[in-house]
Amino acid sequence: MNLQTTGAQYVVAPPAIATLPVAGTTGLFPVRRVYCVGRNYAAHAVEMGHDPDKEPPFFFQKNPDNIVTSGEFPYPPASSDVHHEIEMVVALKSGGKDIPLERALDCVYGYGVGLDMTRRDLQGKAKDMGRPWEVGKAFEASAPCSPLVPASTIGHPTEGEVWLDVNGQRRQSGNLNQLIWKVPEMISYLSGLFTLSPGDIIMSGTPAGVGPVQRGDRLHGHVDGVGDLEVRVV
Ligand code: MN
Repeated sequence: MNLQTTGAQYVVAPPAIATLPVAGTTGLFPVRRVYCVGRNYAAHAVEMGHDPDKEPPFFFQKNPDNIVTSGEFPYPPASSDVHHEIEMVVALKSGGKDIPLERALDCVYGYGVGLDMTRRDLQGKAKDMGRPWEVGKAFEASAPCSPLVPASTIGHPTEGEVWLDVNGQRRQSGNLNQLIWKVPEMISYLSGLFTLSPGDIIMSGTPAGVGPVQRGDRLHGHVDGVGDLEVRVV
C-alpha cells in the first residue's frame, strides 16, 4: 500500500532496518532475511549424530533483528546450554527464483563472519518433539556478525580456514573446501524454495567443535580471506 496516495499512516513507529556495516567504508548493507544452512560440514553432522552423506540441504531462518554487530552477546534467557557455531556469511545483492548454478555467484554482494548462536537444550527438545527450531535458533542477539567485505574486493572464497577460539583456545576448525553444499549450490537450491532478494544473507553452516559458552567468554572467529569476528559473552 502506498502511504502517499492513500493518506494512510503507520499506527506505531515502523521497525528499524537491520544492517551490516561494510568493512572500511560508511556503507551499510540492509538485511531482509537471514537463512541458515543446517549440517553443511560432514564432521559437524557426525558430531550431532547424523549421517554425513550428502542429503538435500535444509534451511532454517533467524530474524534480521537478531543480528548484532556491537561485539557483545548477551546470554539469553531460558537456556543453560548456549552453543557457538562459527560460519561464513554470504550477503546477496540480487536474487530471484530458480537461479541456475552458473548464475548464482552473480547474486553475491560480499561475505562476512558470523556466529549462529544456538540454545542447544531448547533446539534438542524441539527436535525430540518434532517442533520448529525458532526457540533454539532465532532469539535476541543470536546472530553476531562481522562487517561485510565485498566480493568485488576479495572474490568468492572457496578454500581457507574457518576457526573459532574461546578464551584463546581453539574450539572449532574446518575449511571452506569442506562445505558439503557450496555457495552457488546453496543459493540455487534456496531460490527453488524462496524468492531471494537483495538484502538476504545466508549463514553457510558450521564446522565441527560446537560447544557451550559462558558469561565472560571471549570468542574470536575467523574465515580466511574474509575476516574476523570478536564477541564477548555478557
Ligand atoms: Mn549453524
